[in-house]
Amino acid sequence: MKYYILFGPPGAGKGTQAKKMVEKFHLKHISTGDLLRNEIANKTELGLKAKALIEAGNLVPDEVVVGMIKNVFANNNDVAGFILDGFPRTIDQAKMLDKILEGMHSGVTKVISLKIKDGLIGERIKKRAEIEGRKDDADEKIIKNRIDTYHRQTEPLINYYKKSGNYHEIEGERSIDEVFEAISREMQ
Ligand code: AMP
Repeated sequence: MKYYILFGPPGAGKGTQAKKMVEKFHLKHISTGDLLRNEIANKTELGLKAKALIEAGNLVPDEVVVGMIKNVFANNNDVAGFILDGFPRTIDQAKMLDKILEGMHSGVTKVISLKIKDGLIGERIKKRAEIEGRKDDADEKIIKNRIDTYHRQTEPLINYYKKSGNYHEIEGERSIDEVFEAISREMQ
């Protein structure tokens, strides 16, 4: 079983690229953001708890997302592997993921990191807001908080994964197809 992490700031193109990776490599896409938005839409207890945090651009507690990831792993034995999109987002989440995978005698296959500048993040997110209608995409202050949260809590993961030797950076400020070609090369 392969476990790919698609890493990068909000608006880097992770969701778009993950969908293309699923088609080409027969993997299961896990987006913790999508799973959380689904919980909110279904008005579950978890969704109600997560809503305010997400809409303010803050992270939900580590245990919540790790629980969701465990569920998806447990219920999908018939795939070639997984693409984790938007997870892990903290060092603690990364450590918990390592433990889960160790427990299955496995580990992270590769971290594919999409690099884009802060200036472009805001631009891309505002464009997406018009298409997807996400509340956390529509407000300048919330976008700024998400970018700050990324730098503070998520970016330190780059060093964490660099140490493991399976971290690969890809220039994300190119066309969708060019980025996908670079990702595909990394996955061969
Ligand atoms: P995304 O769709 O990946 O941009 O995620 C949208 C929002 O869901 C984030 O801003 C967080 O509030 C929450 N979220 C998604 N993934 C995680 C995660 N791994 N850890 C904590 N919060 C998350």
